Amino acid sequence: MITIDRNSYLESTKSNCLSAAINRFNKAFNNHIQVASITIGMAALPIALAFPANALQVQMNPQTPRLGDTISVVVSLDNPASGSNVTVSVGKDNYTAYEVAPNRYRAFIPTIPLEKPGGRTVIITGGGETKKIPIQVKTRTFKIQRINLPPGKAGVSATKLELQRATEFRAVRTPEKFWNGAFIKPSNARMSTPFGVRRYYNGVFANNYYHRGLDFAGVSGSAVIAPAAGRVVLVGTVKEGFKVHGNVIGVDHGQGVGSIFMHLKDILVKEGDVVKPGQKIGTVGATGASTGPHLHWGLYVNGKSIDPMPWLNGVVE
Ligand SMILES: [Zn+2]
Repeated sequence: MITIDRNSYLESTKSNCLSAAINRFNKAFNNHIQVASITIGMAALPIALAFPANALQVQMNPQTPRLGDTISVVVSLDNPASGSNVTVSVGKDNYTAYEVAPNRYRAFIPTIPLEKPGGRTVIITGGGETKKIPIQVKTRTFKIQRINLPPGKAGVSATKLELQRATEFRAVRTPEKFWNGAFIKPSNARMSTPFGVRRYYNGVFANNYYHRGLDFAGVSGSAVIAPAAGRVVLVGTVKEGFKVHGNVIGVDHGQGVGSIFMHLKDILVKEGDVVKPGQKIGTVGATGASTGPHLHWGLYVNGKSIDPMPWLNGVVE
């Protein structure tokens, strides 16, 4: 028995206008029902349709991503029997697709300012099918900072311990989704440095540098709140050797999404704590490599620092 799949029909119309597609579908659907009832009467007997089977459906958002965006890939499978073996990859990078509803999976593809803009092919497999979907990642202009350091002053360098713990934080992948909906700003202070700022040091462009987060110019001691629910997976202090990060908190939001909060004065949570959105987790400070009190909030998706703005605006949730 072939069941009529409304979604795969809609997709097969390749129309950008959803309401037109729905109208066309409804007409086609009704026509087929009429044909069926003439042929086989009113009995609920199998209805054979000419639509090709389409077990694997993919929705990508945003349609026209730009560098720094998180690309959401939602995969729907018609047949639960085809199992959970959904894969999403771009080049040699594989992204875990987590089940978000029955027969519905989602993977996040992070994009960063260090990548080249332009075409990529997203390869999706599931339900015994493979789809290759081309996407264009648009370029974007990031602000430029020119930093001049006196000779012999290359700044503070990170200790082995903090590099190790930061690497571990970026590697956290939890199948559960702890967050729900749009993120909220972790500080109500003015945003002082946006995401993605590139730098010249003494006139030399720093190829591997981009501002991996958002800065908030909060006064020392002002509240830092959890932007979304999660579990605390990292607490580090200057005393322990976090010379660059300063006092730092890392929160796992689940499914490869995590927040890091740097240069804190006070830390009000411990590793393993579950935090709610809006919960005060620390206070703004100037610890570590910081020239003045501010909060640095970095949002990581599958280990890469992406632009948190679409997450605050509810574009990704
Ligand atoms: Zn920063």
